[in-house]
Amino acid sequence: MLSWDEFNVDETASPAVVNNTLAAEIAADHSAAQIAAAARQEVELQAQPVLAPKLEKPATMRVAATREEVRGEVAFTAPANPIAAALEAVASLDASAGVKELATAAERVTVDQKAMINCRADLNQLVPFKYEWAWQKYLDGCANHWMPQEVNMNADIALWKKPDGLTADERLIVKRSLGFFATADSLVANNLVLAIYRLITNPECRQYILRQAFEEAIHTHAYQYCIESLGMDEGEIFNMYHEVPAVARKASWGLKYTRELSEPTFTTGTTAHDQILLKNLIAFYCCIEGIFFYCGFTQILSMGRRNKMTGTSEQFQYILRDESMHLNFGIDMINQIKLENPLLWNEDMRAQATQMILEATQLEIEYARDTMPRGVLGMNAAMMEEYLQFIANRRLVQIGLKEMYPGAQNPFPWMSEIMDLRKEKNFFETRVTEYQTGGALSWE
Ligand code: FE
Repeated sequence: MLSWDEFNVDETASPAVVNNTLAAEIAADHSAAQIAAAARQEVELQAQPVLAPKLEKPATMRVAATREEVRGEVAFTAPANPIAAALEAVASLDASAGVKELATAAERVTVDQKAMINCRADLNQLVPFKYEWAWQKYLDGCANHWMPQEVNMNADIALWKKPDGLTADERLIVKRSLGFFATADSLVANNLVLAIYRLITNPECRQYILRQAFEEAIHTHAYQYCIESLGMDEGEIFNMYHEVPAVARKASWGLKYTRELSEPTFTTGTTAHDQILLKNLIAFYCCIEGIFFYCGFTQILSMGRRNKMTGTSEQFQYILRDESMHLNFGIDMINQIKLENPLLWNEDMRAQATQMILEATQLEIEYARDTMPRGVLGMNAAMMEEYLQFIANRRLVQIGLKEMYPGAQNPFPWMSEIMDLRKEKNFFETRVTEYQTGGALSWE
């Protein structure tokens, strides 16, 4: 449990001591590559006119100092009386720096001005809502809040440590699932925050994306909680996404769709670039969250149904609920973007989207074969293949494409029951819903 003592550490130290500690931490954090990059930057800058006097600063601060020089800014000098200086600065505040932003925000936003992408209306005004579905999903996500520590892991720990508690095939499934998901949710979170958030120009969708990003963090926390509880080799599990081919191929397939968008210079506004964003949304929502998660979820939930690894299975059950909402939100976003920008959804784009879903399905089938060399938990790789084809058909239809696996059936109808959001209320009503914040801190 957190203690208030943890928040008081710095208050006893003098500012000079705190600064020295901070400087030491910054120095320790700088990798050799960063230092080398800073050195290169300094060499390049020496050939340019000096715009501000160089300051005597520790070596670790030189990158910032040289950047200030590039921008022609005057370096900050600590005032003798910081409070008096702050009062004076506020009294003589020049607000002109923010005038441009304030001018665009001066008008009240109307629903007609709002758009999913390339919107020029003020994005700081949440209302009036244009996309009620996005706001409703935000509310539903908040209503389903949960934390990994609420799940009792004792039975899992006892079973995992018992030499004959699980078969070798069952252990392989637990390790592969935690290995894949432990990094997959981070890839999704990074894509949300570093790539798509700034390109989705609608405040109610951004509100849900922020909620979703937090849920991805909770999911990564849940996997870490399972890995730690079971006493697994953390290095082995967290490195599986580049050490085990069936896991690595899925991660690598997803990453290629985030690379271009996460470049800070990437912008939408042309058909080609808008289509790159659309492909990213299809890759992350329909393929990664909508297909890549399904073999592992089915395997772990099947284990829970057999009264094995029930804590891990319960964690996955909560995660699957969140994920099915992420998927539905993504599909709504994709369809809304198509509706508002019909030129993007041309024949070529439709063919590419179909291809992406088929590739993702094949990668997940390979993952199923790798994790189930034999029949286990009442299922086998062939049954999973049909299930994934059934799922792929649904993803295709959900974004307006034709089914590619005619007649594929669902061999695991119990999965649909678990995911059925209409039962969500019953599922959650037995759980603690009052979350402690300040109350969780000890005053001693
Ligand atoms: Fe997700």
